[in-house]
Amino acid sequence: MNGIEKDMDNLGRVVIPIKFRKKFGIEGNSTVLVSLEDNAILISPANKCCILCGKKVDGEQKFRLCQSCIAEIISDN
Ligand SMILES: [Zn+2]
Repeated sequence: MNGIEKDMDNLGRVVIPIKFRKKFGIEGNSTVLVSLEDNAILISPANKCCILCGKKVDGEQKFRLCQSCIAEIISDN
C-alpha cells in the first residue's frame, strides 16, 4: 500500500508519515514544495525542485533547474 490516510487539522495541517519524510530527507522545519498535480497535491523536498517552475529536478543536477527551464534559458540567449 502506498497511501496512508491521515487526519487534517482545522488549519489544513497534515503530519507526513515519518517513513515518507526519511525516504526524502525531509526533516522538521525544512522547506517543502507543495504543488498541484492533475488529481493530487504533491509535497516534494524543496531542494529537489526547479527554482523557476517547481517541477521535480531529476537526478544529480548541479543547479536546481529542470531540463525544460535550462533549455528555455539557453534558447533565450
Ligand atoms: Zn523548471
